Amino acid sequence: IPVERIRNFSIIAHVDHGKSTLADRLLEHTGAIKPGGQNQILDKLQVERERGITVKAQTASLFYEYNNEQYLLNLIDTPGHVDFSNEVSRSLSACQGVILLVDSNDGVQAQTVANFYLAFGNDLVIIPVLNKIDLKNADPAKVTQQLQSLFDIQADEVLKISAKLGIGIDSVLEAIVTRLPSPKVARNGPLKALLFDSSYDKYRGVLSLIFVKQGSLKVGENIQSCYTQKQYEVKTLSLLRPQEQPVEQLVAGQIGLVGCNMRSSQEALVGDTIHLFGQKVEALPGFQPIRPMVFAGIYPMDQSQHVNLRSAIEKLTLNDSAVSVEIDSSPALGQGWRLGFLGLLHLEVFSQRLNQEYGAEPIITAPSVIYKVKLKPTKQNVKEGKDVITINNPALWPEPQQIEESFEPMVIGTIITPDKYLGPIMSLCMERRGVQRNATNIDNDRIMLQYDLPLCEIVIDFHDMLKTISSGYASFDYEDNGYVSSNLVKMGVLLNNVAVEELSSIVHITKSQTMGKKLVLRLKEIIPRQMINIAVQAVVGGKVLARQDIKAYRKDVTQWLYGGDVTRRKKLLAQQAAGKKKMRMIANISVPRETFIDVLKK
Ligand code: GDP
Ligand code: MG
Repeated sequence: IPVERIRNFSIIAHVDHGKSTLADRLLEHTGAIKPGGQNQILDKLQVERERGITVKAQTASLFYEYNNEQYLLNLIDTPGHVDFSNEVSRSLSACQGVILLVDSNDGVQAQTVANFYLAFGNDLVIIPVLNKIDLKNADPAKVTQQLQSLFDIQADEVLKISAKLGIGIDSVLEAIVTRLPSPKVARNGPLKALLFDSSYDKYRGVLSLIFVKQGSLKVGENIQSCYTQKQYEVKTLSLLRPQEQPVEQLVAGQIGLVGCNMRSSQEALVGDTIHLFGQKVEALPGFQPIRPMVFAGIYPMDQSQHVNLRSAIEKLTLNDSAVSVEIDSSPALGQGWRLGFLGLLHLEVFSQRLNQEYGAEPIITAPSVIYKVKLKPTKQNVKEGKDVITINNPALWPEPQQIEESFEPMVIGTIITPDKYLGPIMSLCMERRGVQRNATNIDNDRIMLQYDLPLCEIVIDFHDMLKTISSGYASFDYEDNGYVSSNLVKMGVLLNNVAVEELSSIVHITKSQTMGKKLVLRLKEIIPRQMINIAVQAVVGGKVLARQDIKAYRKDVTQWLYGGDVTRRKKLLAQQAAGKKKMRMIANISVPRETFIDVLKK
């Protein structure tokens, strides 16, 4: 197929607006899959099906006949959640256009706005499509109005479809052919390919998705990465239809999967440029390694599970190059790892996959963002050039007298909400130290707010809180906005006067009092009563800010209840032991596995 008849596109949408359903319909209409078959063919992982979010971008090549000519349409699926906006942008770099899919009942949401600007900033053609017109409450005219006022989109550009019922699917395919340009590529010249995603295959190692920008690539050729300089021999090439279809060659304009015995997905850097060995080319612009934003410690429940957990983490990270891994150890929890994630959802998905795919139930500590601390100059700091340090683990926070200035990461958050929830949402943002940038009416009862917010205030439960106070109607997205100076302190937790580093957190000084009170109350709720009294204290710089006591219960239940009956007593003890499995002994106190991550939720 000549380059003029290739189209590369993505579907971008707020979560649940119907992206996966539309992808299925497009696959059916082009004969790639049988109609009425398995739904949401592109969502492969179990967690994706359960949570209804796409985690890993999937891709499919479709053939479509228009005006008696065959077109090759490459659909590049993108993840649909704020945590994965990096993955959205990397997928978009292989496209010339996007379908901006909006639910005609829900209307424009925060991710619609964020995704629109990602596409717009990449100079992509945008095809606005209203989905779910079959719904009784669909209001396409109102949503068209929103698109016009927010993005200057004209009413006659907007398509109206029902992905569920298969209405208007041809109009979408036709718009892809007629409105999108073909990729700007050159079939001659040395190979230049963009690596934009990777996955791991048990037998073939890392498989990388590439978009060939220039030249061609054949099985058996030797390729090299611009960034790592590593070389590989191409073992397999395939198109995704969406099942793999092996081919001998990929040419400029095509998207395909390369198998080249790459051992670790950490070598498959998204945004990297691939060329033929010995034919150096200039790297494609815009390469940005993905940066984890949220860090958490992961520890086995007991050290006998260490080997299994290590192997599970290794296997999962092979498939998810956005997770960073460092070995870590803690006095209370032993040997473990400190993992970096794109956001809290990413962390939750990872831990759910550890559980579902590998049966692992590790302890996960409360997540932390990356802080920066400028240390007071000492001879040694100056000598080692360590005046500013980065800290992703509250346990490593320096002593107050060592700190000259501390800095925290900020984001610009976008919230779209029906205006009746404006009051509570503004209070929530204020409570989270947010500063309003602007507020825009997007139609007669909906408003878009933008706030400067500290990242640490939104990573844990901001999204949940927002959903709760708006009965699910407000939506949220954010982008990074650098670091600001901030007066931060470390809040420690003592259990019977023993400091539990794994429960410490970094808080803004103005919030330390209220946080301390909440923290000890929360711990009192989470930690069950035991044989001994437990004093729970929150401390900052040696000063106790709050205290709660967990009273001991009196006796071993089995003795006075079932003293005589041996079998019943055994059964009860077995139950108790099973319950205890999920507990961890810290300072002679049994602490439930989930404590570390739950403690910061409200
Ligand atoms: P995604 O999160 O954007 O991938 O959304 P999905 O494709 O998973 O769809 C979310 C929900 O909306 C599912 O329950 C779909 O069945 C439903 N849905 C998708 N398209 C339509 C449509 O055109 N009409 C109706 N009524 N429901 C739809
Ligand atoms: Mg989906």
